[in-house]
Amino acid sequence: MLAVTDKVIELIYSPSLVENFRGVDMVLSCGDLPYYYLEYIVTMLNVPLLYVHGNHDPPIEYSSSGRQLTGPAGCINVHGRLVREKELSVVGLQGSIRYKPEGKYQYTDSEMWGQVLKMTPALLLNRLFTGRRMDILLAHSPPYGIHNGRDWTHVGFKSFLWLMRRFKPRYLIHGHRHVYNPLETTQTQYEQTMVINVYPYKILEIPDE
Ligand SMILES: [Zn+2]
Repeated sequence: MLAVTDKVIELIYSPSLVENFRGVDMVLSCGDLPYYYLEYIVTMLNVPLLYVHGNHDPPIEYSSSGRQLTGPAGCINVHGRLVREKELSVVGLQGSIRYKPEGKYQYTDSEMWGQVLKMTPALLLNRLFTGRRMDILLAHSPPYGIHNGRDWTHVGFKSFLWLMRRFKPRYLIHGHRHVYNPLETTQTQYEQTMVINVYPYKILEIPDE
């Protein structure tokens, strides 16, 4: 699996994408990426691309031909729902903590609680019918206290901690927090979930469970 977030990478946005990432079955995007970049990836790799929006995503992006895009064409927006793809269950939660009054993809902690609670019936049903926990929680923001920043624009969500304790996803994949120091922690085990900051991209091997 190829996971991308926050920054356009030359190695990916290049004609050798297919060669460089041969064997990738699915792409995950944690947001804050231009829609043309995700469209390029999905077109070239020709595998499902699941995404959530980041706080910097514009409500409308104009393509070079003047086309209005509210999201990347041909990709699957998983915000607020549970999607099954390649035998994996993926749940999405878009956006970051609210740090200014306007901004479509920003939430206060209690607004995100609302989003999380709205998801719980689907998560309970999923566990009931499949007998399995969810595989991937795809988010833009990190959880509170894990890989999040000290500045208030990069604080994570407390509700994500509850979601992990309650529903035990195998992975929480996020971006938002840019990593410049190679010694900075980007993988943290929390209860039964591996929390991974994929900035700016990571290859993930998801074993069968
Ligand atoms: Zn962000």
